[in-house]
Amino acid sequence: MTSTSPTLSVHFLITAGPTREALDPVRFLSNRSSGKMGYALAEAALAAGHQVTLVSGPVALPRPATATFLPVESAQQMWDTVRQVVTTQPIAIAIHCAAVADYRPRFAAAQKIKKNADTLTLELEKTPDILGSMRHVFGFSGILVGFAAETENLVANAQSKLQRKGCDLIIANDVSRTDIGFDSSDNEVLLCHADGYTEPLPKMTKHALAESIVQKCAHLRPS
Ligand code: C5P
Repeated sequence: MTSTSPTLSVHFLITAGPTREALDPVRFLSNRSSGKMGYALAEAALAAGHQVTLVSGPVALPRPATATFLPVESAQQMWDTVRQVVTTQPIAIAIHCAAVADYRPRFAAAQKIKKNADTLTLELEKTPDILGSMRHVFGFSGILVGFAAETENLVANAQSKLQRKGCDLIIANDVSRTDIGFDSSDNEVLLCHADGYTEPLPKMTKHALAESIVQKCAHLRPS
């Protein structure tokens, strides 16, 4: 890890919340992400004097007043929106906090699915990997930060994700614990840097953690 001071005002891109993958006009697949961590990161970056573009899936949180707010629903919409932002705006730091659905229904029904049959089989296909597209598809060369929600082998999984997706930093947390992470106000994470350095942060509120992450990101230089 390399670090320098002082901190300049830069443009952050932050993704937050879950995505919704349509089954039919009234149903979708989604997850329990509350968006709290991503919104706390946006608030912390704004409070530190940075510019923020927040690309958010559907959540029940007030939008940060001074962020550029781009609401989306599906993983595909989030991918399209992030590509548009990073190819047209001078984004210095991108933090991908969204709990993007890994799979979506291969075909969304045009009409509401009727309950005629006793069983229903869904065919799912992979969604586009937004974080994984940043370097190789969108040509992003700024600081790239991802999250890794893991239930086992936290460090090994986080480090392999960091390399696969070309990140400078992965923020890893153990989602098998119920007192932190998804839907909770607290989090306890391990920071995994590109040079192999790992740094545990103690359990704290997502707001305190967000301040700490924003500060650390603003001092990182691309690896
Ligand atoms: O591969 P995995 O889903 O575990 O990686 C988690 C990280 O990748 C998070 O930072 C998440 O925001 C991002 N991600 C993404 N697009 C996906 C899946 C995950 O940006 N389709």
